[in-house]
Amino acid sequence: MKQLSMWEATSNKKEQRSSLSGNEECDVVIIGGGFTGLSTAYHLQKKNVKTIVLEKSYLGSGASGRNGGQILTGFIDSMSSLAKKKGLQTARQMLQMSLDSIDLIERISKENQISCSFKRSGHLYAAYKPAHIDWLKEEQEILEKDFNYRVRVLDKQDLQAELKTDFYHGGCIDENSATYHPFNYVLGLAETVEKLGGTIYENSEAHEIIKSSNGKVTVMTEDGRVTADHLVIVTNAYSGNLHKTISRSVIPVESIMIATEQLPEELVSELIPNDRAVFDTKHMLYYFRRTPDNRIAFGGSGRSLSSDTAPLYLKLKEGMNNVFPELKKYMAEFCWSGKVGFTKEMLPYIGQLEDGTHFAFGYAGHGAAMSTLMGKLLAGNILSENNGKNPFEKNDLRPIPFYSQHGKVVGLMKYYFKVKDAIS
Ligand SMILES: Cc1cc2nc3c(=O)[nH]c(=O)nc-3n(C[C@H](O)[C@H](O)[C@H](O)COP(=O)(O)OP(=O)(O)OC[C@H]3O[C@@H](n4cnc5c(N)ncnc54)[C@H](O)[C@@H]3O)c2cc1C
Repeated sequence: MKQLSMWEATSNKKEQRSSLSGNEECDVVIIGGGFTGLSTAYHLQKKNVKTIVLEKSYLGSGASGRNGGQILTGFIDSMSSLAKKKGLQTARQMLQMSLDSIDLIERISKENQISCSFKRSGHLYAAYKPAHIDWLKEEQEILEKDFNYRVRVLDKQDLQAELKTDFYHGGCIDENSATYHPFNYVLGLAETVEKLGGTIYENSEAHEIIKSSNGKVTVMTEDGRVTADHLVIVTNAYSGNLHKTISRSVIPVESIMIATEQLPEELVSELIPNDRAVFDTKHMLYYFRRTPDNRIAFGGSGRSLSSDTAPLYLKLKEGMNNVFPELKKYMAEFCWSGKVGFTKEMLPYIGQLEDGTHFAFGYAGHGAAMSTLMGKLLAGNILSENNGKNPFEKNDLRPIPFYSQHGKVVGLMKYYFKVKDAIS
């Protein structure tokens, strides 16, 4: 298996951008070249606000170029649970925002001719245990009654029309979700930002942030500096130690993926006939889909505590073979890992710190959709153009207590969930 994101290996032509050297000035400096940073730059440049994006490595080298490419409705928590925690009105607003986020990606891709294979193929939430079907039905009723939102629950027999497997016991279809080639979306969005007059530097790690008494902010890299009126930090699960409050509010959790070699078209069409983005109800979930070039991209949980990744990829291949025994004879050509950002509440956070820094992060595996919308909202916050409060606003960001222990806690939770999947 090649240790490389299949999305990167199969992407459109990648431009290599220069790194920052010398002194630059702009209106807004954005640290982080993933979906959130590029969307922020895009929405600001559309209003002729001059932006500079600084990316530590290359665009899409964080989670944005390594994900499952599943643009999903909703959040990691169910809508019924969010309604209980946040109130029904707020939960309705959250659901609407997740739907808006998908429409936004579709619109941006169309308007700017971004060739990223965006497809409204819907998602399938597959039931790992028979009892999970009851839960899916309850959720379906609540969605219809309280949210006026329709999904379709399938029993084991009906599932065959969606997924050729005996591994699952049914599932739930939501037609509003979509898929895309995430790396190509990153590349297309970056080119659009540049066409609109924005500047992007790669291999330009922000090392230090200096605030001036005149309200300006200067971001230092090894060979240069950018001075701007506003600072946006959108480094998400790759935050390092640049800004303590942000770094200590996001919990990185590793996820791993494999992708098969290219498969016969008839086989992929038989396995996932309607091209759904699939994820399941296991605690240590599997997520998978067809790719535009007829592979199966299959993801699962990454390292817990000290385990080494190599055996985990083999285990994931075994998991894929269990779901689709037809794939046993095909090779997994690519394997890669990445970090998913979580917050304490497992909901995205967006806001501005007392020191003026704008931030957004922590989409908990739903960032393929939410990050583009968050970029738009960040641009709106900077321009004071957003009407009303959004439910993800978090202006009193506080570092998570005992943050240094998060790696151990995540490891123990993964172990606990593995046992739970096996017995409950
Ligand atoms: C394996 C995997 C599978 C996933 N699958 C899905 C999925 O199917 N659907 C879904 O909705 N979500 C999925 N996600 C999550 C999704 O990819 C993320 O939520 C989303 O990409 C976050 O985008 P972002 O721009 O906020 O962060 P990133 O894309 O992580 O961007 C942050 C960037 O900041 C840069 N950076 C960090 N520090 C500095 C610095 N000091 N100076 C300059 N640059 C810096 C990093 O190099 C990085 O490029 C998955 C994630 C992973 C890892």
